[in-house]
Amino acid sequence: MVANTPKGVREIRINPIVPTESVLIATARNMRPQKSEDPAPRDTRAHVDTCPFCRGNEDKTPPEITRINDDSGDWQARIVENLFPVLGEDSNQMGLSFGLQQAMDGYGRHEVIIDHPQHGIAIHEMSVEHLDRLFTLFQTRIGQLYESDSRLKYVLLFKNFGPAAGASMAHTHSQIIALPVVPQNLQDEVRNSREFYDKHHHCIFCTLIDEALTFETTIYDRESGEVVRKIDVGQYVVERGERFIAIKPFASRYEWEIHILPLQHNSNFQTASTEDLADFARVLKRTMSRLDAVIGGAQYNFFLHSQPHGPGYDDCEASYHWHLEICPRTSIPSGFELGSGLFVNTISPELAAEQLRAVQLDTE
Ligand SMILES: [Zn+2]
Ligand SMILES: [Zn+2]
Ligand SMILES: [Zn+2]
Repeated sequence: MVANTPKGVREIRINPIVPTESVLIATARNMRPQKSEDPAPRDTRAHVDTCPFCRGNEDKTPPEITRINDDSGDWQARIVENLFPVLGEDSNQMGLSFGLQQAMDGYGRHEVIIDHPQHGIAIHEMSVEHLDRLFTLFQTRIGQLYESDSRLKYVLLFKNFGPAAGASMAHTHSQIIALPVVPQNLQDEVRNSREFYDKHHHCIFCTLIDEALTFETTIYDRESGEVVRKIDVGQYVVERGERFIAIKPFASRYEWEIHILPLQHNSNFQTASTEDLADFARVLKRTMSRLDAVIGGAQYNFFLHSQPHGPGYDDCEASYHWHLEICPRTSIPSGFELGSGLFVNTISPELAAEQLRAVQLDTE
């Protein structure tokens, strides 16, 4: 199986977009503590009477912001305010800043999207049509938030699925946090991809997609001349649609991390077309089906990275490229990772991609 990496891999891989986010790929066992017990299983029930997010309990959620209904008038997804917001309305208090310690007011918005009426349904079990409607809803809501308040600099959409990924509510849901600042990792992505663009006149994400599709190389041992490793970069492709591609990053932080990107350059999720979102939904469903088949009951975080709003970010249309990062949680970060900032990944991304690609999916 490890034909391409006969001796296993032990190397530090530099993330080409954010070099400070590097990864130690160490496929030898026991480098990283695996969860000793099985992670708490996720709740797969269809309906739970006491769950505030289940149908029939609409009056038990915080105030509803919007919803989408099916033809019979039943809701398919709802957006409600977060009961325990991380950020909130103006508190009118001065940020506590002294010396080098700078703080800012935690101003922003925090909303919950109840993704589906069915309590424990996984993304890969939802229909493509449903996922299409859901991401269209995300797009609309993100746009409304940006328009509503120019102080909001970044609207982060993310999902925690399963207790191992930090989901405190078992009912499937996503979250939107509108921030008064652009998160540091996004700033890094934007800045570094802009630098690449200035030098090469090409988007780094598009370049990585091209490489993922075409590049091939062989590494020989300097003394013996033996083939040490053959890298067929096409091997990083997990799933491909008409308009989207799912890739296993070369420097994957998480064993089963996958990124989904539009094949045609586009910096901003807000400008994705109806046709784009339809294909995105299909690629997402197929990708999540592959993940589920390989790791079974995947618990994960996903988040959307797209061009931030406002001054300082309107010139990155050509250099930035929106994407969804999916990070399944199969192990716990150790002191080494916290202390070094170097993620440890114990499954070679090449092998992980091969296993994901090998899954036979029913054609729809
Ligand atoms: Zn529920
Ligand atoms: Zn691009
Ligand atoms: Zn990103």
